[in-house]
Amino acid sequence: MSKAIQQERPLDWFNIGFVVVFPVVAIAAAIWYGLNYGITWRELSAATVIWVLTGLGITAGYHRLFAHRGYAAHPSVRAALAVLGAAACQNSAIAWCSDHRYHHSDTDTDGDPYDATRGFFYSHMGWILYKGLRGDIYKNVPDLRRDPILAWQHRHWLTIAVLTNAALVSLAALVLGNWLGMLIIAGMLRVVVVQHFTFCINSLAHMWGSRPYSTATSSRDNWLLSLVTLGEGYHNYHHSFEWDYRNGPRWFNWDPTKWLIWSLSKVGLARSLRRVPLDVVLQRRFEQGRSGFATRLSEWSESKAAEWRQLRAEKREQIRTRREDFMDGVRKGQVALRDQLLAAETALELELQELKTLRQALADALRRLAAETSDELREALENELHHLQRALKDAQRAARSSLKSWELLMREYGRGMHPAVATP
Ligand SMILES: [Zn+2]
Ligand SMILES: [Zn+2]
Repeated sequence: MSKAIQQERPLDWFNIGFVVVFPVVAIAAAIWYGLNYGITWRELSAATVIWVLTGLGITAGYHRLFAHRGYAAHPSVRAALAVLGAAACQNSAIAWCSDHRYHHSDTDTDGDPYDATRGFFYSHMGWILYKGLRGDIYKNVPDLRRDPILAWQHRHWLTIAVLTNAALVSLAALVLGNWLGMLIIAGMLRVVVVQHFTFCINSLAHMWGSRPYSTATSSRDNWLLSLVTLGEGYHNYHHSFEWDYRNGPRWFNWDPTKWLIWSLSKVGLARSLRRVPLDVVLQRRFEQGRSGFATRLSEWSESKAAEWRQLRAEKREQIRTRREDFMDGVRKGQVALRDQLLAAETALELELQELKTLRQALADALRRLAAETSDELREALENELHHLQRALKDAQRAARSSLKSWELLMREYGRGMHPAVATP
């Protein structure tokens, strides 16, 4: 069954009236009533009692007895639950159970009437706005169609719903008074609230909570939802062991429906209560916990490994860049040092050349001085000699200093691998 076919389904105007128009009227009436007359404990307690009665019709009746056959009940109990379930205004038991059995057999797929994978609104109430997925065939509930009480309830559920609600609200008004308040608060508003409590099991109980027994479906355990659904919040357990008459298997799980069924069995009105043995429950929980832990562990180690791989690659890149920068610096330093060395060598060679020239000039001057006899010329030559001697001394000094700096550069060049030393 494809999503396209699901979406082509025609709108169900009766249902739209029931879950859209009726709630708007009920809430508007409740606001009007509350503002004009005030809501007292009488209306609220009547609403609570009728909520619990009709709610149990759904949970203990439609759900655990008829849809899942979690226990067997005396015909009087079956009839009472069928009537109270009808009064919750959620369709006939046969239609409700047919949808619900498909919900279990086809959970989270196109065949699931309230497929939670299609989002909160669809699974909560959107699905009700359309005609049924499979029409009015109810192939998967042959046992219920054979049941005379349910066949009768299926034919007349709407009449039963109206009459039962009328009777319950009238009884409340007779005992506590205030007919109008009872009609609006314990009648109309309560129907809307109970409907939405049930809708929450199809929406929220498939989105919000833990999955201690199985992650095969989106169903969740959520004790908070159990508070408003008479114990149906342990939905992960329920999807794992659907025929268990309990939804909350532990004694402390808030499950008034389970306590009612157990009490009925104690007074002989219910029997064959089906329970999953504790060791099977614990085993499933243990296995789920272990596989969940293993999954989390492998996810964690995978993410850590990826993180480390990334870190290692980054470090490697950093080291490579640093090494390149370092080598680059060394290379530049060496080049600079070599240039300096060459310049110093050239300067030294020039100075030595000059020294040689000066010495030659000095020797020439001395020779000429020895040969000369004129006083005037002799004086001039002595002056020149003196001047040359000074220039020679200067040149010698310059050459010595150049030699020293050349030697220093040579030493640095020899050990000068470090850029700090090498950089000019
Ligand atoms: Zn479910
Ligand atoms: Zn179920």
